[in-house]
Amino acid sequence: MKALQILGIGSLFFCLSTACSQQERFYETGAYLLGTRLAIKILPVSGRTVEKDAAHLLKTIRKEGALLDSNSAEGIFARLEKNASYLWADESERQLVLPALKTSLALARRTAGAFDPALGSLTQLWGFSSLTPRQLPPTAEELQQARERSGYTRILSFDTSGVRVLPRTRIDLGAIAKGILADRAATLLRSWGYRQGLLDFGGDILLLGEKINAPWRVAVRHPRQGGRWWGIVHVRDLAVVTSGDYERYFVFEKRRYHHLLDPKTGLPARACVSVTVVGPLASLADALSTALFVLGPERGLPLLAREFPDYQALFILENAEGELHEERSPGFSSLTGWQPSSQQDGH
Ligand code: ADP
Ligand code: MG
Repeated sequence: MKALQILGIGSLFFCLSTACSQQERFYETGAYLLGTRLAIKILPVSGRTVEKDAAHLLKTIRKEGALLDSNSAEGIFARLEKNASYLWADESERQLVLPALKTSLALARRTAGAFDPALGSLTQLWGFSSLTPRQLPPTAEELQQARERSGYTRILSFDTSGVRVLPRTRIDLGAIAKGILADRAATLLRSWGYRQGLLDFGGDILLLGEKINAPWRVAVRHPRQGGRWWGIVHVRDLAVVTSGDYERYFVFEKRRYHHLLDPKTGLPARACVSVTVVGPLASLADALSTALFVLGPERGLPLLAREFPDYQALFILENAEGELHEERSPGFSSLTGWQPSSQQDGH
């Protein structure tokens, strides 16, 4: 992630529009949460104290983020892995984690398993979220063992009392958690009466309404040239989410190993360099960006059109010579007012 830059915020921002002075009207805050930098902008409304609401929002996101965290040694998913069953400790767990599992399982089925919420043994083996990431690929035996413990069909059941899995199954919602939290944060903001704002969960971006009399402009990062962008989307009331191979990776024997795994092989998926998904829900866009990255455009584009017609995607691909090119779903340009960067020079 972090593939996206919202044009106009903090250090990531630059001012392209005439609305620069208007920007000051937005209340801005941020925090380091969920292993990433969170940036929030909210247009104040009368009758509410935006500072107080933003603080409440951040507190809620922090709490919910901890519940969905797959890497926490004390967390729900660590305990589930150990005991093969977990009973919800309270209502807040039930109300957050149960629907998160339901959505994730449904998406695993609808993406032909390309998005898989039970890859935790594999993702831990690769260790990209670990504080001391490995610099060598795992051995064939390590990989085989982790594959045997992975896969969403190992989730046996979940209901209002708890969740059951086959022994040693580790759930990892890393590919959807930020999207879920962004959707929930937006619902909370709307319930308080806010209508315009921006939630940037380190690249999972959700826009409320429009900016000031104009759509939000979000830059898609150039995947091989830091600080440059590939193009710009113009959106209102939509999520823009990117999964890319350039944030968490290592290079071994001239090959890039990154954190987006093909559930079929347990290895980093090779089809794409980055995938940006635009659509109404951040949660779906998040899971889809990962799934489409695994599937690549050949399999991903038909699936997107058939199963998720409200979502559009931009694939950035690399040929054997290291040259980049893009493929877009048919409705991507009209949904986003796609503006390619003149700096798309292929390297
Ligand atoms: P980021 O973590 O950079 O925001 P993603 O939303 O694409 O990117 O999520 C990647 C994370 O999801 C990985 O770090 C890993 O924990 C998990 N993951 C990796 N491959 C898959 C997959 N095929 N399906 C579901 N989760 C995955
Ligand atoms: Mg994702």
